[in-house]
Amino acid sequence: MQNSYLTNLQKIEFVITYACTGRCIHCSEGDHSDCGEHIDADIAADAVRKIAGIYPIQTVMTFGGEPLLYPHAVCAIHAAATECGVPRRQIITNGFFTKDLARIHDTVKALADSGVNDILLSVDAFHQKTIPLYIVRAFAEEVQKQKIPLRLQPAWLVSTEDNNPYNAETRAILDSFSDMHIPIGGGNVIFPAGNALKYLADYFVDSHPENPYIEDPADVRCVSFDPAGDVLGGNVYRQDILSILENYQPSDDKEESSC
Ligand code: SF4
Repeated sequence: MQNSYLTNLQKIEFVITYACTGRCIHCSEGDHSDCGEHIDADIAADAVRKIAGIYPIQTVMTFGGEPLLYPHAVCAIHAAATECGVPRRQIITNGFFTKDLARIHDTVKALADSGVNDILLSVDAFHQKTIPLYIVRAFAEEVQKQKIPLRLQPAWLVSTEDNNPYNAETRAILDSFSDMHIPIGGGNVIFPAGNALKYLADYFVDSHPENPYIEDPADVRCVSFDPAGDVLGGNVYRQDILSILENYQPSDDKEESSC
């Protein structure tokens, strides 16, 4: 039975893990470690099947942290989405989960086999402070060989047009991919949260970009799972996902998702 607060639900997203290979000064989540808790692959895939069996889900997205530190979970989720006929199956990745080229090949092949059809690759002045570009390019080359649609997804500071030094460096990094002919997505404008608030505060004196990921808890369009299984005030490791959805009641707090 559908919950009236979820009438417009059309997206499921999974924070696969908060572990990350990046150490970005703009990261809204703050600091990360190299390894950590990750979502259970079988339970997450089962949740996709159950939700998509009731709601007209258009998108399943996986991100992190760096989701490809745990490719088995990512692939299980997208394989379930493919099986359920969900049209858009997305990953946001920084492209750096190993330096082993054979492992990059195997992981990208597994993504293709699971039906991933939209990869957003984070490249910009912030990510490339700690993430080596040659590995990101190697990842992008494998994605192109496997014919998975790929977009570059930069983070911009203040606005996409602003001429601060970070944006200038981001434009140079994007130019360095021009030989690969990868489309450049709209990216996102950094908002003041987590590390961005700590390290880039000077840029938010005159500019206050809003967190675009806040949604109305009384009109949930996106169900968001965290690595510990928390979702909509319940926990999918302890409760059936359909029961969580059926019993969901909005609180006054705004929900945060990548929608
Ligand atoms: S912005 Fe992305 S890649 Fe960078 S530290 Fe945060 S989660 Fe990792």
